Amino acid sequence: CGIVGVLGDHEAAPLLVEALKRLEYRGYDSAGIATVNEGALDRRRAVGKLVNLSDLLVHEPLVGKAGIGHTRWATHGAPTEINAHPHRAGPVAVVHNGIIENYRELRAELAEKGIKFATETDTETVALMTQHHMAQGKSPAEAATATLNQLHGAFALVFLFEGEDDLLIAARKGSPLAIGHGDGEVFVGSDAIALGPLTDRITYLDEGDRAVLTRSSIEIRDEAGNLVNRPVRKIHQDA
Ligand code: GLU
Repeated sequence: CGIVGVLGDHEAAPLLVEALKRLEYRGYDSAGIATVNEGALDRRRAVGKLVNLSDLLVHEPLVGKAGIGHTRWATHGAPTEINAHPHRAGPVAVVHNGIIENYRELRAELAEKGIKFATETDTETVALMTQHHMAQGKSPAEAATATLNQLHGAFALVFLFEGEDDLLIAARKGSPLAIGHGDGEVFVGSDAIALGPLTDRITYLDEGDRAVLTRSSIEIRDEAGNLVNRPVRKIHQDA
């Protein structure tokens, strides 16, 4: 139900948890984060309140300055740790708000290729498809784009990749998503409120937009693949 992403200068985990707290008002049943540290992708997930995730992170910390986070409001699959986001398939981790309407067809296609599922969620198909595209030689951005072109439904998605300490891919279709601009840092959030403590410079993605983010570059394309410019807005927030 809430999404955040960070390509930062500092440890990502505390920033992600703080940003997720600011999205608590939306409601959720479980939460999780993933980071990349010197190329290594790892994740932690917990059912229930964010404090359960924070407690877990005390005992099993996640290091790394790049990461994604999620609060889940389950639509497909029970609210369990296994079904919590981020979902991972090999080198790909993904967080998702909304519903992939055609996930059954996509699951059937993957199953035909002998690909196995670990969860009951619609989201896992996104990670598995992207992994499959990468296994066929596509770059992370190409693989994410190929996957996004196959999805129907209303969603916001953010991808994080093993081996990529400076890359996030974000996509918006039916669920809002905002990019936050820092100084040599970049953030993603379901809304500007999530990013309040991090930046007041926000770019809202338009319907169908996909963004390839690094700390030094932001490339946004529309659904047809054309490069587009979206304005940077200065947001005034009290909190
Ligand atoms: N459909 C996804 C799930 O059930 C995402 C739900 C959400 O927006 O949190 O895991």
